[in-house]
Amino acid sequence: MSEIHTVGVVGAGVMGTGLAQALAQTGHRVLLVDRTEEILAAAERTIREGLRFARLLGAKRPARPADDRPTEDRETVLKRITLTTGYEGFEEADFVIENITEDWGLKQGVYRRLDAVCPPRAVFAANTSVIPITRIGAATSRPAQVLGMHFMNPVPLKPVVEMIRGHHTSAETVATARTLLAQLGKEGILVEDSPGFVTNRVLMLTVNEAVYLVHEGVAGAAEVDRIFKTCFGHTMGPLETADLIGLDTILQSVEGLYAAFSDSKYRPCPLLVRMVDAGLLGRKSGQGFYDYATTAA
Ligand code: NAD
Repeated sequence: MSEIHTVGVVGAGVMGTGLAQALAQTGHRVLLVDRTEEILAAAERTIREGLRFARLLGAKRPARPADDRPTEDRETVLKRITLTTGYEGFEEADFVIENITEDWGLKQGVYRRLDAVCPPRAVFAANTSVIPITRIGAATSRPAQVLGMHFMNPVPLKPVVEMIRGHHTSAETVATARTLLAQLGKEGILVEDSPGFVTNRVLMLTVNEAVYLVHEGVAGAAEVDRIFKTCFGHTMGPLETADLIGLDTILQSVEGLYAAFSDSKYRPCPLLVRMVDAGLLGRKSGQGFYDYATTAA
């Protein structure tokens, strides 16, 4: 496939809004789906803010072949995004990226729906944290056209994507995904299918262990993060990263790894469970290991 014009984005949370923005900024028509009009209205506000931020940063749109348009105004970019709760327009989707809550039961239902509404040519990319791509492919009638595309957060700013080849993923599907990434000005690193892939098998374990350190009173969140930044040169510490990702997504991912490997090293820290139960989800709820309502952290 050479031209990818219409891209369906399912889930308008942290990742879906970032993706919709990045796709629209690079000239794609975007169909953004979520469950309610309220969530979609919030998503639109987030995308508006993201576009404002991009302008303030003076960030250029990533280069697109044969694309010499000047940086566009916000309304022009926003007009490329259609918000829907009912999959309107998906019969024209060339490519779909799914970013709903990290819950296999919910994702399974979405893939069945996508399989029914999208044209046979459409490729499905799962932006999951830990769910095996082979399992996702099996929920569709087109496993050769399903792959993992694990985008990094915030999507508009991160240049590299972890691509995951499921058991049945075809070489053509991988090539199509690389075409889309090139259009987005991003690069993919291809890995084989395994729960958590490369990134989250390591990251989620690290974050969970960092939460244990706080839980056990060995160090406070700020001390843990400072050690990683100053001793190892990391841009962000593990607990700041957890707040950016969302503690609910972290917990679902750690639970997913625990279930997939039946290995106690992935046992979620009780403090992580308690914080999610309390609604302390990180940046998206305003409070996690840090308070975003009163500080600029
Ligand atoms: P989020 O909680 O911010 O957003 C998830 C969205 O999915 C919500 O708006 C929710 O309403 C929607 N949703 C749930 N069920 C749905 C359904 N049946 N149909 C349509 N929409 C539905 O989560 P997120 O952080 O954006 O994560 C989304 C996916 O991306 C997860 O699988 C996560 O593991 C993965 N991921 C997250 C990050 C990150 O840094 N947050 C990075 C890479 C991948």
